[in-house]
Amino acid sequence: MPGVELFQEERNLASVLAFLSSISNNPNHVSAVSILEDVTTGSLNLLIAINKAKFDDGNHILQQLKDRFEDIFAQLSQAPYSIDSNVEDAVFAAIISMCFKRILCRLRFTNSYIKASRQPITLLLQKAMALRSVKPFFNFMERSRDVIKFVESWRKQETPDELGSLVRSIQHLSKISGFQDVIESISNHEMDPSSKKSLLNGVRKVARYFEAARFLCNLSKKHPSIQRLRFILVKPPSNAFGETSTALCTSTLSSMIARIASLHGLQWNADRICHILGTNEIEAGSRFINQTNTILLEAKIHAAIQLILHCETNKFTPQPRVICASKDACFLCNAFILTH
Ligand SMILES: [Zn+2]
Repeated sequence: MPGVELFQEERNLASVLAFLSSISNNPNHVSAVSILEDVTTGSLNLLIAINKAKFDDGNHILQQLKDRFEDIFAQLSQAPYSIDSNVEDAVFAAIISMCFKRILCRLRFTNSYIKASRQPITLLLQKAMALRSVKPFFNFMERSRDVIKFVESWRKQETPDELGSLVRSIQHLSKISGFQDVIESISNHEMDPSSKKSLLNGVRKVARYFEAARFLCNLSKKHPSIQRLRFILVKPPSNAFGETSTALCTSTLSSMIARIASLHGLQWNADRICHILGTNEIEAGSRFINQTNTILLEAKIHAAIQLILHCETNKFTPQPRVICASKDACFLCNAFILTH
């Protein structure tokens, strides 16, 4: 395919753009992207979709995604033959602008939609610094001090530039040799495992914003055709959103367990499962029906499925080879894609 010849590069590009597409802190706004080659024009299109329970759900986020992606790629195309550090800075600034709210949430400077008042990543870093302030950890300490310095600057001004500098310093920290080992060498007694995991995860994800800018610039140097990437918003037709029946849950816990057990040749029965869970069949049965109804009432057409529907309906040739979502695919989407 023109521009992006290698499957791995196409996969990396989709993965980076799916990561950047997570601009909202609302867990309902899960997005997915897919790269589609238009053989008639030779152009590359990025198809973008968002989880929807109703026809109009998330349309404002979809439009923002298109506008902001266009801003990023406009920076790449302004100097198509000299992708240098100025271009990289401009692309990075456009990424910070696009993902500003999400980065603050990943740093835990603002509360997430579902989990309130978590310790900021940089506070966890300061705790790790207090535990690893001796000589073998010189590089870790030096880069961590830089991060804390940029946190202080951010606190004073809270501008996109300050946030960009902080993200850059976190990326530098993530690149020191053995960063993960330093954090994992802290005993569980000194720092609880979930804090260590959050710190590593937070640093890795925030660093990725800077790495995304570098990746897009490098790919653009190699394949200038990606500078002309077009962004297409995909929405399922209104008749895809059928009315949900009020009589939702038609099975019981024991009938569901019997069905799964017989499908997989398992010796399961409701009695034993309730015993293990420390509950009884009446209570578990009622919770099963409530939970199933909640899931059915809140059911969404997942973004990856919308993209597949769009491509199947339009019978594109060739069909896209990669679909990436802003979070891991759910069990059913994954199973559907694997068997597709
Ligand atoms: Zn799914």
